[in-house]
Amino acid sequence: TTDLHCHVQPYDYYADKPADTMGLARTASIIEEIRAEATNALLFDNGDYLQGNPMGDYIAYSKGMAAGDIHPVIAGMNTLRYAAGTLGNHEFNYGIDFLEKVNAGANFPIVCANVARKLGASPREDELFVRPYLIVETELADGAGVKHPLKLGVIGFVPPQILQWDRAHLEGNLFARDILQAARAWVPQLREEGVDLVVALAHTGLDASAETEGMENAAYHLAAIEGIDAVISGHQHKVWPSTEYEGEGFDAETGQIMGKPAVMAGFWGSHLGVIDLMLERVGDSWQLAASQSTVRPIYTRGDDRKVTALLGDYT
Ligand code: MN
Ligand code: MG
Repeated sequence: TTDLHCHVQPYDYYADKPADTMGLARTASIIEEIRAEATNALLFDNGDYLQGNPMGDYIAYSKGMAAGDIHPVIAGMNTLRYAAGTLGNHEFNYGIDFLEKVNAGANFPIVCANVARKLGASPREDELFVRPYLIVETELADGAGVKHPLKLGVIGFVPPQILQWDRAHLEGNLFARDILQAARAWVPQLREEGVDLVVALAHTGLDASAETEGMENAAYHLAAIEGIDAVISGHQHKVWPSTEYEGEGFDAETGQIMGKPAVMAGFWGSHLGVIDLMLERVGDSWQLAASQSTVRPIYTRGDDRKVTALLGDYT
């Protein structure tokens, strides 16, 4: 999931009526469908979970977060058993203290490698706001049901523009690095820890123009970095694979970008992004044999503009 923006229920609070185009409660049915289909599955969120609808504003500005409170979007996410999440730019909209209270209630780790309380001489010397990465140690069942260990690295990134967009909250308190510079520093460390694969939770969109310092939408170039094996993109509120992106490096058939599996799952829970990896056990390590990215929408819109919900098929 990406860019949930506090859309937990399929409900439009502005119109004050139910809506089939949004809500993690709807995406959840597809998550369960995938879990039922796949032999091995891990669920990730790509950030911008906290802000974006009246419920988010109500909690931040009226109700507040007392010690021990679980924010409703976190409550929904906790129920769905995420393996990890990352920070989006909108996580900082209500200030650092509020964000820390919200994140304290998450039952999954939140990673981000390019936001620091204090910058060091190099990215790896930064005193980071949250952990830069997570190593998920799990077991994968093969086609015969035999289990093998997997060490999966999960690293996160957010646009450094948070420093301008939330200057009132962040100035002097948090610092941000260029996404690609942070990745080039941290990914080798993650590989040194002996992970089999690295997934980037990249709260950043797809922009195939030349790399620039502080680039907001860096996921295209992130995919090209050695040591990153799959990229979960977001922030642009678009869908990949789709016809929205084309040109060199974009393969809409497999969903690969710069030769790496990638996905972008819309916004407000509109889609579940799926990166299906076929791994091969070679000696005591894993090799990526094939990949296919897809997005599964929670609704379809007919020629008459009529919306029909598409709920996951599972029991
Ligand atoms: Mn967003
Ligand atoms: Mg964003």
